[in-house]
Amino acid sequence: MVDDSSTALGFARLLLEEAGHEVESTTEPTQALELIRDCQPDLIILDVMMPKLDGFELCRQIHKDPELGQLPIIMASAKAYESDREKAKRLGASGYIVKPFSMEQFNVIAGSMGSMMVSTWGVRGTLPMPQEGYIRYGGHTSCYSLQLSPERHLIFDAGTGIKSFANALLREGKGRITADLFITHPHWDHINGFPFFTPLYIGGNEIRVHGARQDDQGFEKLLMAQMDGVYFPVTAREFNSHVTFNELGEQTLTIDDVQIRTMLLKHPGQCLGYRVDYRGRSFCYITDNELYPADSAFADEEFLHQLADFCRGANVLIHDCTYFDSEYTGRLHWGHSPLSEVCRLAHLAEAERLWIHHHDPDQNDHDIECKLEFCAETLAGMGSKTRAVLPREGRSETV
Ligand SMILES: [Zn+2]
Ligand SMILES: [Zn+2]
Repeated sequence: MVDDSSTALGFARLLLEEAGHEVESTTEPTQALELIRDCQPDLIILDVMMPKLDGFELCRQIHKDPELGQLPIIMASAKAYESDREKAKRLGASGYIVKPFSMEQFNVIAGSMGSMMVSTWGVRGTLPMPQEGYIRYGGHTSCYSLQLSPERHLIFDAGTGIKSFANALLREGKGRITADLFITHPHWDHINGFPFFTPLYIGGNEIRVHGARQDDQGFEKLLMAQMDGVYFPVTAREFNSHVTFNELGEQTLTIDDVQIRTMLLKHPGQCLGYRVDYRGRSFCYITDNELYPADSAFADEEFLHQLADFCRGANVLIHDCTYFDSEYTGRLHWGHSPLSEVCRLAHLAEAERLWIHHHDPDQNDHDIECKLEFCAETLAGMGSKTRAVLPREGRSETV
């Protein structure tokens, strides 16, 4: 970032570092080229109004440089004039943001530049826990979304967290969306927010729902049974959007330039794990899944290695982290994993980050923080490069 105001730089640095980015900056535009050459950034943010060398001129110089010319540049200014936006575009800038900086602006930019923005809406397993001591990371059941462009969304699971996602879309004025909703399996904590996903009721929206069948029951029937008028008063007849259902097995699916792969997990019934690859970035969503301890009679090293291959090099690996090892002992075959095994998987898979997901309803905020500590120590003990992370509801970050 190049900005003559150290206050603006400090604020932007805070926002970006909080979201997991590394920031190098200077208030001296004449030193910018040298800094950019040194750190080879993924993105350059230039203030327009700087006394010694204005941002437009600096943008021109960067683009002329044979080594740096391909780096994406965002112009930032307190002025919102259309002529300035046009000028930025003419000079080859990838975007223009109006100050003051906000995380929302950075995320939209990242979304339009080919990275993925992951938002967390539900981190709990089994049951929502809306009470004091249980909501620092959120009280909702499973739901994450991936934003690939302002109007394109992939959603993973429709636990109660999907309601907050719907609210966020409406708040941002995004009534019209195209969304692909991927369901892991039809246990309550993964589907019972579905009827509350407001975009279903808005005309013009395109919503494709994907998931696996269970024996002789088709996927659509499994999901929609909860809206048959007995368990919930509103039925699917009231959907105004265009909703379609797609039955999945283990396969690879390509939607535009996004590749989605599925793998059956170890959980009662058919439960699908998902991997998304998009422009060199990858995201894996693996819940609910039971990794049996290596010393157990049910240990399945072959499955562990297959899953590690499936998750290979993921930038974000969200995995079922329901139990501490000590809790797991009494819950064999419940379909959830002990933390040590998840760490082993993440390390084997060489995942960049392991997101600790699907907290047991009896675990409070403190317990969840102990899980993070346990995972961080276990991974460090393995000499792993994987970083353990606690996702927090309402947070978005670029991957
Ligand atoms: Zn679950
Ligand atoms: Zn389940």
